[in-house]
Amino acid sequence: MNRRDFIKNSILAASGAVLLSGCTFKSQTPAVSGGVATSKFKNLSISMLGFGAMRLPVDSNGVIDDALNKKMVETAINAGINYFDTAYMYMGGKSEKAMGDALKKYDRNSFNLTTKMPVMMLEKQEDVERIFNEQLERCQTDHFDFYLVHCLNKHNWENTKKYNVIPFLEQKKKEGKIKYLGFSHHDTPELLQEIIDYYDKWEFVQLQINKIDWKACRGEEQYNIARKAKLPIIVMEPLRGSALANLNPAATKILKDYNPDASAASWAFRWLAGLDGIMTMLSGMTKPEHLEDNIKTFKNLKPLSEEEQKVYDKALAAHMKTLAIGCTACRYCECPVGVDIASIFSLYNQYKQDTTGMGKVGFISHYEALRENERADKCIKCGLCKTKCPQQLDIPALLAKVDKEYKALAGA
Ligand code: SF4
Ligand code: SF4
Repeated sequence: MNRRDFIKNSILAASGAVLLSGCTFKSQTPAVSGGVATSKFKNLSISMLGFGAMRLPVDSNGVIDDALNKKMVETAINAGINYFDTAYMYMGGKSEKAMGDALKKYDRNSFNLTTKMPVMMLEKQEDVERIFNEQLERCQTDHFDFYLVHCLNKHNWENTKKYNVIPFLEQKKKEGKIKYLGFSHHDTPELLQEIIDYYDKWEFVQLQINKIDWKACRGEEQYNIARKAKLPIIVMEPLRGSALANLNPAATKILKDYNPDASAASWAFRWLAGLDGIMTMLSGMTKPEHLEDNIKTFKNLKPLSEEEQKVYDKALAAHMKTLAIGCTACRYCECPVGVDIASIFSLYNQYKQDTTGMGKVGFISHYEALRENERADKCIKCGLCKTKCPQQLDIPALLAKVDKEYKALAGA
């Protein structure tokens, strides 16, 4: 691995599921004993820890490490994780196939597979059916247990209606190709309410809930709307990218002084465990140690005590003092000229929050490891990325800010 790739993979790691009965593969039944905590959804028992396939392990070339992914899926299944969440666009379109490959040896009734209709990519009516069929093929399955309309914001909701996505998915439910239908939401509480009111057969909703977004991004209001509508909640971004797993030194000290054995991520999950109505929490785990730490947390999942809540509040207040850019590294903002937005913002946050301990030297060296065409100064301010960012970040303005600061630090 060359230096540039090594650094880039480190950045991504820091930032940061399948075949049917009747198939020709030999199915395996999971051996679960003392597994992770579960919730009830209809007559199903769902693992509270969901395996998120938006971030999968990659090799030195940035390609999904299939062998490691299969190993991690096996560890997950043996720990009782039975909810696997992928999407058409995750990992540059490679996630669904990777999860299909990893899950196909297991009994299809022993896990739940979820994927999503990428309504942001629809350009004509035929795309809906074409994409759905492609997803079945990529995932090597004859049905999806949970299926979502993906990333609803104002624009994507218009596309959902324009291309008759809901009637199409209802038909797929009748055909047995989808068991449960819901959507993921990335906009205001007002739009969330409008979407819930539009269709009374939604069965669940996926929301971005974590301690940072609870107030900052009106997460609490969205949670309350879902609860009032009696929709089970799937939590996405429980660690806000990896921000809540990589706290700054001041915040880390507060948590470690209180409990030296608990990871920052475990505090974030235990904060969520105090909320009612959560079906599962999705975690994108790029390394086996992330998975192992999460399994440890979910095997004995306890909400934070009152005293722990106070400690956590204090730690996050210390962390927020240095938060620079609220990017979750979802990578929805693919840039046509190749600017590597997520890596740039991740580097900048690591520098500002001093999570690497390498200061400005580390920032300059990591930034210069990006290819020239991936750097912030190559942004032509077309604004396309802004329309795709679920966090509604003013990406071109933030890139200009990072570029200015880098040039000042590097004397460039
Ligand atoms: S505004 Fe800049 S970063 Fe965003 S898509 Fe356009 S060129 Fe890329
Ligand atoms: S800038 Fe926005 S769209 Fe891009 S990776 Fe960050 S949160 Fe996602």
